[in-house]
Amino acid sequence: MSDEVNPFESLQEQIDDAAAFLDVDAGKLERIKYPERVLETNLTVELDDGTIEVFEAYRSQFNGDRGPYKGGIRYHPNVDRSEVKALSGWMVYKCAAVGIPYGGGKGGIAVNPIEYSDAELERLTRAFATELRPLIGADRDIPAPDVNTGQREMNWIKDTYETLENTTEPGVVTGKAIESGGSAGRVEATGRSVMLVSREAFDYLGWDINEATVAVQGYGNAGSVAAELLDDSGANIVAVSDSSGAIHHPDGLDASAVKEYKLQTGAVGGYDGATETMTNEELLTMDVDLLIPAALENAIDEELARDVHADIIVEAANGPLTPDADDVLSESDVHVFPDILANAGGVTVSYFEWVQNRQRFHWTEERVNDELERVITEAFDDLVDVYESHDVPNFRTAMYVVAIRRVLQSARESGVWP
Ligand code: NAD
Repeated sequence: MSDEVNPFESLQEQIDDAAAFLDVDAGKLERIKYPERVLETNLTVELDDGTIEVFEAYRSQFNGDRGPYKGGIRYHPNVDRSEVKALSGWMVYKCAAVGIPYGGGKGGIAVNPIEYSDAELERLTRAFATELRPLIGADRDIPAPDVNTGQREMNWIKDTYETLENTTEPGVVTGKAIESGGSAGRVEATGRSVMLVSREAFDYLGWDINEATVAVQGYGNAGSVAAELLDDSGANIVAVSDSSGAIHHPDGLDASAVKEYKLQTGAVGGYDGATETMTNEELLTMDVDLLIPAALENAIDEELARDVHADIIVEAANGPLTPDADDVLSESDVHVFPDILANAGGVTVSYFEWVQNRQRFHWTEERVNDELERVITEAFDDLVDVYESHDVPNFRTAMYVVAIRRVLQSARESGVWP
């Protein structure tokens, strides 16, 4: 894993790579490579022992041409301004790639949540929600879960916002618990789109996903659900990992049993249905049909990419490959299906949640999953159209061509630029 690659520079390079296939004015191109604004704040929180601690926190609003800013809130010690800017930009192009009416935003707090009590995390989250209040709103900027945040944090943000605004506005955040205005299917949505994109990718390449061998790096929300759904559809999950290391069974692991084990123990390591343990690097270079990086940015750098033996990579994480790794993998004919399509299920079902909140109406899980499948398969078709009609080097560039075109078109139609 490379810590040296700046994810914001990776985003800008990805935009430049795609812009080379579009007739974009240099000034407009510059405009869509930077956030519109970034909030940087210091949250002051009283800990349970009465001491005070200060936490750095950010919210980046990257581009709002296509609708309200939309994107998750991450709690992780590595959160910084550059990471949040990158993640907010990826949200812009993700929402445009799948054609939902949002811009992109992202936020985060530099914190390791396992070091704090639930009460401390609640005070921290409410302090952040108070800082965010002037910026967010169902028509302005809509946070959602990301790494180490979930329904609980979204409920706290919603409650703080509604209390301060003296209103009820469930659409101010998505990823809420069902009884607080959440949507059926939201928790599984990111993993579900990873499964759908994997299925479409195998179909497109003329390969059979049943019996395909799969390795998954990162066994949290995105990775574990993708593994379960692929396991259900006949694929063979031979290795999975988390930050504690990887486990392997050549005949396949029971993805749901491993998820349950991690839920009980906090880690995949020690699961007794595995034949061996390995490092994350060993997992990432396994000879499998499908590799799913589902942890954090920069998991595969240029050096590691040279050792990748998978045929297909479907990116569940945001930005798991550095641009140099992308170049190596394109040259070695590894088919990479990009994050802005593969993990877009999360934001797509967030959009459905927001629509339901505005309608004050609840959709069935079946309806949510059907609509999600339609959105993802249509976006996959848009990707293939550009891939086949332009001389692009890989699927990522094709998807960015689709997305950048949409962002530029909406800016043009608003009369912002000629
Ligand atoms: P999560 O916190 O539920 O899970 C993250 C997992 O990655 C954990 O199992 C953790 O142990 C593991 N991990 C962390 N560092 C690792 C490392 N160095 N090697 C191996 N494993 C490591 O988070 P999540 O929501 O599943 O998010 C994972 C990725 O998916 C992130 O890049 C996130 O931005 C992206 N994503 C998530 C969603 C969503 O709806 N949850 C939507 C879109 C994108």
